[in-house]
Amino acid sequence: MKLRKAGIATISVLALALTATACGDGGKKDKGGSGSDSSGGSKSIKIGIKYDQPGIGQKAPDGSFAGFDVDVATFVAKELGYSEDQIEFVETPSADRETALKRGDVEFIAASYSINDERDKLVDFAGPYLLAHQDLLVASDSDIKEGTDLNGKKLCSVSGSTSAQNVKKEIAPKAQLKELSTYSECLEGLAGGSIDALTTDDSILAGYASQEQYKGKFKLAGLKLSNENYGIGVKDGNTALKDKINTALEKMVADGAWQKAVDDNFGPAGYKNEPAPKIGNIVK
Ligand code: GLU
Repeated sequence: MKLRKAGIATISVLALALTATACGDGGKKDKGGSGSDSSGGSKSIKIGIKYDQPGIGQKAPDGSFAGFDVDVATFVAKELGYSEDQIEFVETPSADRETALKRGDVEFIAASYSINDERDKLVDFAGPYLLAHQDLLVASDSDIKEGTDLNGKKLCSVSGSTSAQNVKKEIAPKAQLKELSTYSECLEGLAGGSIDALTTDDSILAGYASQEQYKGKFKLAGLKLSNENYGIGVKDGNTALKDKINTALEKMVADGAWQKAVDDNFGPAGYKNEPAPKIGNIVK
């Protein structure tokens, strides 16, 4: 992203710096990494987001990125000393997030990433910065109204997500759960009639339901099946970066940028979000 805008004379210097600090194939060993340096300088920062979740994290065909997580990540990166041109977004599907942080592929992750005890053992979380709830997306004429209606039905979710775990353990253990790698693949199944319901966070489902090609075809059941506290994931033990991100998130709420990001990204889908959470306040 940033290299395109760099002058020719600076390219070789940048390339060296990037090789040393931000290569994506496990080359980065230092704990602090590029993101824990509060002044970005000429370096880049790799940030994990989702690419296929409208309103949350989406890559457009022209290569641009949009969504609430994108705005949160951009705000945080700026507070860490990186300009927009220095941000390199990387796709981090649900099942890959812990590994991506562990390997150092990305400095931090803002990708509808719920804080929970299991994940907290593997990574550290700043935040939370949003409280969402698990819900169902079904065809407009579906008679699925409650979680228990899913038993015996074909339900789709994503491997490595809290949504799939909740279905298996609590909501509808007898549902025929299909776990794919992305929610957009589930959405295709729902649109084509091969699955009866898609389950994940209401913040994500609202974005899908409002897409032009699906208008009037789907509805959200309106259930609050769980509390999903979105955090920003960092490498396990990187407390310095986590603290800086928490300071940035507090600033984002205090100066109105958080509310603007909510209005810009959730407004079009009509998603009614919960108020900004307090840092460290995880709703169980
Ligand atoms: N927020 C939930 C999770 O972290 C569901 C959305 C997702 O898969 O990103 O698993």
